[in-house]
Amino acid sequence: MTPTIVPGSQPTSPSRRHHRGPLLAVLAVLSTMLVACAERPQGLPEEPPAEPAPLRLSILHCGELVLADPAPFNITTEEAGRLDMVVPCYLIEHPDGTLLWDLGLPFGVQTGEYKMQGAELRLERTVEEQLAERGLTPADIDYVAMSHLHFDHCGQANAFAGSHHLIQRAEHSAGFGEDGAAVAFFERQHYEALADSETTLLDGRHDVFGDGRVVIHPAPGHTPGHQVLFVDLEETGPVVLSGDLYHFAANRELQRAPVFNFDQEQTIASMQAVEQLLADTGAELWIQHDAGQAEERRWFPDSYR
Ligand SMILES: [Zn+2]
Repeated sequence: MTPTIVPGSQPTSPSRRHHRGPLLAVLAVLSTMLVACAERPQGLPEEPPAEPAPLRLSILHCGELVLADPAPFNITTEEAGRLDMVVPCYLIEHPDGTLLWDLGLPFGVQTGEYKMQGAELRLERTVEEQLAERGLTPADIDYVAMSHLHFDHCGQANAFAGSHHLIQRAEHSAGFGEDGAAVAFFERQHYEALADSETTLLDGRHDVFGDGRVVIHPAPGHTPGHQVLFVDLEETGPVVLSGDLYHFAANRELQRAPVFNFDQEQTIASMQAVEQLLADTGAELWIQHDAGQAEERRWFPDSYR
């Protein structure tokens, strides 16, 4: 006869059936002991409640830019209020990795080799010098993402060719492809080293660490693949880093795009999409170049959590 096997039980053979009574008694005692053990953890620490891991954002000093005339930005001096702009970069430290958002004015600004007509440029300290203060080197930066490839957002990119580059496909083909020269203000020498970097070509939204806290959103128009960054900070609340969606607060109030933008219509659509993102998430928009907002911020070595 073939015994029926029930999951979790043993087949009973005629020879073992003889001992069944005492065996059951022993099992009953053992199971009582096991239940007692399970009820009393015997000094083991209790499992801590699951807490969200820390996320930190630091604003690095990546230069200043003083305009002679705000007309290219489609606003008057009166509307702009002031003609100085700040150039920040952002270090995002997530438990699963580090991301640098934007890479500032070119190194040549420090030495006086890089100049721009119609604006005065200043760069006191490089990104690398500031990272060193926190004990970090470019090798510690897992990801770099730039809002776009204009000189004031990619100026120090070549120092981070070892990081994983996150860029919209349209920006990459404009910046690295043969048609790149057609886009105003793309100067390949600032980011040339990233041509061979490990790269993810994005086609829209990208959740950098997979937990919804650091998310790239497409906002094309200023350049073919311009993008903004949503960062969900626990204490500060969610923020969106604007890239150059807006340069001055007045551009946002008046919904006016710079005259030199790659695509005006696309820019206005991106402004509306980002305004919707802000409404949906309750995020605060940080206009990166806005000097008035910059005065209210806590800059590196301070940080936001
Ligand atoms: Zn800019």
